[in-house]
Amino acid sequence: MAHAPIYLDHQASTPLDPRVRAAMTRNDGLYGNPHSTNHLAGIEAARAVETARRQVARAIGGDARRVVFTSGATEANNLALFGAARASSGRRGIVTLGTEHSSVLEPAQALGEMGFDVQTLPVQSDGIVDLDAVERAVNERTLLVSVMHVNNETGVIQAIPAIAEICQRFGAILHSDCAQSLGRLPLDVRNFGADLLTLSAHKCYGPKGIGALYIGTRARNGIRPVTLGGGQEGGLRPGTLPVPLCIGFGEACRVAAIDVHVDAERMSSLAEELLKTILDAFPRAELNGSPTHRAPGAFNVRFPSASGDELLDALEGVQASSGSACASVVTEPSPVLVAYGLSSAEADRSLRFCVGRFTTQEEIRIAGDVVRSAARQLSISSPIGRTARVGIG
Ligand code: PMP
Repeated sequence: MAHAPIYLDHQASTPLDPRVRAAMTRNDGLYGNPHSTNHLAGIEAARAVETARRQVARAIGGDARRVVFTSGATEANNLALFGAARASSGRRGIVTLGTEHSSVLEPAQALGEMGFDVQTLPVQSDGIVDLDAVERAVNERTLLVSVMHVNNETGVIQAIPAIAEICQRFGAILHSDCAQSLGRLPLDVRNFGADLLTLSAHKCYGPKGIGALYIGTRARNGIRPVTLGGGQEGGLRPGTLPVPLCIGFGEACRVAAIDVHVDAERMSSLAEELLKTILDAFPRAELNGSPTHRAPGAFNVRFPSASGDELLDALEGVQASSGSACASVVTEPSPVLVAYGLSSAEADRSLRFCVGRFTTQEEIRIAGDVVRSAARQLSISSPIGRTARVGIG
């Protein structure tokens, strides 16, 4: 490999922004327990946490009092689903999509086993749920609808405000996993429509191990804690808060709120350039999911031959991914792509790419060279590629 590794897997995680690292380092002497506010050490830690909480809220146009810190998006999703189920007195209906993250699908399945009526809706071939299907599934018995904003494998964006309108008509709570949209798309709870939002710091250049559930006014009394202990986080998420991680998350949100538009434009143009190179080098490759309703910087491509792993080997030094990092221990084809109507073989030949804030034009140029060389290499070594070369298929 003649070049430094090129990281194009920002959906799995993002590097720490230097401004985030600086904020965490600047405050690394805050050793007090932020819940021990009877002395200065605790008060200083508490102040730092509350500043971070305001920064998180501000990044989504929200109210700091509605931010509940968690260990990440996985925990926030679990709190949203199980917490709503624990708070419900009558409603038993849960509606979600087959393309959700496992940290939504598995709690939904567990709630089904506990007697809740769970409907997992299909999506169309572009990855977007048909609003008529949502309309048919939601009724006055629906407790919670959970639909992610941006898909972590394809970048496809769901129409959350339109889904919110349906939920509000029937008094159902709308939860949206926004782990992939915070910092990538402008997000404002005042026009977004979701009542519960899941956020994760390490997807927006903050540290791993922290995230939040934003609980809007309509869902204020709709969540009960799922872990029990002290009264931290309004009793909804007991446990001592990790002060340095809160500070890092807050700073990541402060930066995201400022940079989101510029980042989106840059990431979009770099990703589209790479996508074009891939589609030129592999003429029978195809984009998976909507070409238009897609988050800046992200795309997922189905290649004509070779498995995802062979492709990744051929794309030497280009760090993309053949599926969700959270499902990488599972060898099944991507359930997201299968839900888009792909066969297992097609899903296996698909890779996701996602550029980030620090991806450079030069990296995209080098990645383009690697893609062209991989296309040549695979057309020589793969039987399907050989067939393609002689013009069949
Ligand atoms: N939801 C989505 C959409 C994700 O992409 C991820 C991370 N792959 C998660 C939830 C889990 O996030 P965390 O690592 O913060 O628990």
